[in-house]
Amino acid sequence: MDLKKIIKSFENCPCGRKHVFDLQTYKAEKGIVTKVGKELIEAGFPKKVYIVSDENAMNASKGLINSLDKEGFQYKLNVYPDMRYARMSDSLEILKNSEDYDGIISIGTGSVNDICRYAAARANKPFAIFATAPSMDGFASDSAPLIDNNFKISYMCRQPMVVLADTEILAASPVELKAAGYGDIMAKYMAIVDWKVANYTTGEYYCENIVDLVRKATNSVWDMTDKVTSNDPQAAGAIMDALILTGCAMQLAKCTRPASGAEHVVSHYWEIHKLEKGEWPDFHGKKVGIAMCELIPLYKRLLNLETIEVEPERLNLDDVLNHYSPSFRKEVIGYNVPSICNLVDIETFKNRWPDIQKSIKEDLPDEKVFLEHMKKAGCVTTIEEAHISKEFCDNAIHYSPYMRRRTTLLRLLPMIKNFNY
Ligand SMILES: [Zn+2]
Ligand SMILES: [Zn+2]
Repeated sequence: MDLKKIIKSFENCPCGRKHVFDLQTYKAEKGIVTKVGKELIEAGFPKKVYIVSDENAMNASKGLINSLDKEGFQYKLNVYPDMRYARMSDSLEILKNSEDYDGIISIGTGSVNDICRYAAARANKPFAIFATAPSMDGFASDSAPLIDNNFKISYMCRQPMVVLADTEILAASPVELKAAGYGDIMAKYMAIVDWKVANYTTGEYYCENIVDLVRKATNSVWDMTDKVTSNDPQAAGAIMDALILTGCAMQLAKCTRPASGAEHVVSHYWEIHKLEKGEWPDFHGKKVGIAMCELIPLYKRLLNLETIEVEPERLNLDDVLNHYSPSFRKEVIGYNVPSICNLVDIETFKNRWPDIQKSIKEDLPDEKVFLEHMKKAGCVTTIEEAHISKEFCDNAIHYSPYMRRRTTLLRLLPMIKNFNY
């Protein structure tokens, strides 16, 4: 993928912003695992490095360490047995242990990357990722969600300098992980709708060119749906490309709008409540995909309303707070007082209804077709399969929007008169 060409295509963007990102090298190629050392040198990465991985990822990446030896890298290897949670404590340990090294490399996916990303940013050191599964869109992200005292907080970091992936390794990764990546990409369809709604109703910044980039990446994965579950390097590479592109899109926009909408917030609601109970919250993309299956029919139902009556929001803050742990109280109040709905002009909301409906109609796939695609791609599509009860799901749909200060269509639904959901 030609990153320079992408940045160049955003020169003089009509949205008025100057678009840039930090990622310098991204390559997803067959057999690159045995050339990682050479690629890193070419990218200008330092040769004295601290490497973090887990056992699964190391087993999948045979030949990588050899390629570093061949090029004369000096390194320290820190391999965790199984890295399922991205904990602040682990990240701080890496920060300390990597003091004498000039760069940090993570081999793996999600959690391993996140703890390294934070440590690298804190130490102001170059950071590279060797991705072993196309499971979520955080590879090219500039933030790291870390768990501290059972809360997940996103910390601002920096994009990695280099991301490398071997398409044969990606293709051979567990179907569950590839399907999670697919689910995370499908969320972009809803992210586009919610971004447009925020722009229409509150005048929030929006860039059509970024939306085009994300839509193209998402469509290319949609077109490869049939191949996601098979060991197909081309399809796995396409998923990886789309995950990287949407990561870059967030940088271009300087916000997460291009990659996440109401579905991500619903999945975060499930996540924080599961973490509180000490349960593993499951793969990010898997939950996001399920949230899409729940929200697409809800959004599509809005197409039945030819016009809408809009009323000011009547926020029952105590009711909202009852759906969050007491220790989250301060944050929830901060996000909702004053309410984001105060920014929405009632007449504007009513007048822009045809535009909102157009987006729901055109930007979101048909609910039945979407479900078929998800199943074909090996995705989990029901809440039961992710151990989420009907009540827990309903609560997420009604109360998750209050855990962010952010306009989504889901957040605005209580303002639409006589719409029950
Ligand atoms: Zn723009
Ligand atoms: Zn995501």
